[in-house]
Amino acid sequence: VRLAWRTPAEVSGLPDPDDVPEPAAVAPSGPAGRAPDAAVWPEGWLLLGLDAEGAPLLARRTGAPASRVGGWTGLRSVFAALDDTELVLAATAVALHTWHARHPRCPRCGAPTRPAQAGWSRVCTAEGSEHYPRTDPAVIMAVVDEADRLLLGHAAAWPQGRFSTLAGFVEPGESLEQAVRREVEEEAGVEVVAVEYVASQPWPFPASLMLGFRARARSAPAVADGEEVTEALWVTREELAARVASGAIGLPGRGSIARRLIEGWFGGRLGQD
Ligand SMILES: [Zn+2]
Repeated sequence: VRLAWRTPAEVSGLPDPDDVPEPAAVAPSGPAGRAPDAAVWPEGWLLLGLDAEGAPLLARRTGAPASRVGGWTGLRSVFAALDDTELVLAATAVALHTWHARHPRCPRCGAPTRPAQAGWSRVCTAEGSEHYPRTDPAVIMAVVDEADRLLLGHAAAWPQGRFSTLAGFVEPGESLEQAVRREVEEEAGVEVVAVEYVASQPWPFPASLMLGFRARARSAPAVADGEEVTEALWVTREELAARVASGAIGLPGRGSIARRLIEGWFGGRLGQD
């Protein structure tokens, strides 16, 4: 799976997005191979970077998909299939566009804002305050007990049989390690120690950075909170492999850090591709 890059002329006929209050009349332009002026930036366009020849790579938010640019698919469904460079570009475009769409007005005074810095900030049109995209840290953790069983949870919002590692947002004033301990305690009633960082993954749905951890449980019984998590269970490697093979348990998609944490504990790939 590759991203399908188009020239500005090829996308000029696409509709403007409905949620931009004052679509700009200007389009990015500039000498060949140079990015357009970044001080005043047209609404709906973003500068993602420069290609190997120095030509700007832009992303534009559009309205309804137009058939002449081909098929469209959601970023989640191709997360595992894109290479690292294109994944970063696509995740950046989705994260920034979502932020623009949700921040048409100044949080200080309520006046409209306009894009600046090549789409990487917005400036208040009334008093000039600058506003930047935010990233919300979330922790996700593979918790194991003394018998090396893995803790899995089923969230209320998921389809039946879907299980994953526990996860949750970091709260104000909290360290990442404290967030791991609090979430596991809240969602499954399990006390954890020895919290250890593994890896991170941008998750722009809409603005998360998933920070993956391993942790060891001090207390064994897992009791779901009944609200966010409706089922919590410990599994051995043999139990998980058997339930995945029989279809009783569905795991998060390949390419997600949740799957990576689970397969890291398991020691290999689980289930069919
Ligand atoms: Zn303002």
